[in-house]
Amino acid sequence: MAATIIDGKVLAAEVKAVAARDAAALKEQGISPKLVVFLVGENPASAVYVRGKAKDCAECGIDSIVETLPETTTEADLLARIVAMNADPTVHGILVQLPLPGHIEEKKVIEAIDPKKDVDGFTPVNIGRLQIGEDCFVPCTPAGALYMIQAAGVQLAGKDAVVVGRSNIVGKPMAMLLVAQSATVTVCHSKTQNLAAKCAAADVLIAAAGQEKLITANMVKPGAVVIDVGMNKNADGKLCGDVDFEPVSQVAGAITPVPGGVGLMTRAMLMANTIKAAQWVLQAQK
Ligand code: NAD
Repeated sequence: MAATIIDGKVLAAEVKAVAARDAAALKEQGISPKLVVFLVGENPASAVYVRGKAKDCAECGIDSIVETLPETTTEADLLARIVAMNADPTVHGILVQLPLPGHIEEKKVIEAIDPKKDVDGFTPVNIGRLQIGEDCFVPCTPAGALYMIQAAGVQLAGKDAVVVGRSNIVGKPMAMLLVAQSATVTVCHSKTQNLAAKCAAADVLIAAAGQEKLITANMVKPGAVVIDVGMNKNADGKLCGDVDFEPVSQVAGAITPVPGGVGLMTRAMLMANTIKAAQWVLQAQK
């Protein structure tokens, strides 16, 4: 039996509709949510992502400013601009599009963002707060993946979850979110032994390795929920995930497609995080 498709288009629209409603409510109370995105250099994929973010903001009634800076921008210049945005009370969210040119240290730049405006959830403060279960900005991709699992009606408590990938922006925060939902979580990575057997034991399998067709049908437990975070280009230059979609969807109970899956949720969650940042400002005024 073919798996249920967890539709990122429908769910992202749902998240964005809530963001739009909340943006309107904030405006009625005198706060116009605003996101500032820094784009440094000429990376074409980054330019596409940033345009997408600005479009999402427009759809949700969130003001956005894209600061497009040349490849030659110095680290000191970028840091000074971030500090200025931190101090600007009309700015609620700050995002630096990665990757940055090689002469700029990403870690330093991320750490310069005020954690209260860190809508990507990449600063050590937000990562730490996520770890100890405090209110924080959750990185958009794992937040979107969790939303999809929950929207599929999965009760995570007591379930065995496997996350393939341990990056700071996807794998690790994904694992923390699943632990917080009382799943039993195994994190796999490039040094993991017997990956197939570990994946095949998962009730919920998250693929976030960046390897086309890494997850094949024999690695999936019948009825499992499979979330494909991967964004790869196949030999034809087409976008594909980490999961061998057709055969796996014959085994899984529910599955997310690529495109049309987690990528759309990532974008939507950025809107939700920006609203949250503006709501914090409103609460602080009360
Ligand atoms: P990364 O390269 O930082 O991390 C990849 C992780 O996968 C590493 O921990 C590595 O150990 C593990 N890995 C790699 N090959 C493996 C293998 N053969 N077996 C087991 N583990 C393996 O990548 P990332 O930034 O975490 O992104 C992962 C994937 O998700 C990429 O395809 C990326 O493009 C995609 N991504 C998608 C979104 C989205 O919005 N859908 C957002 C961020 C990243």
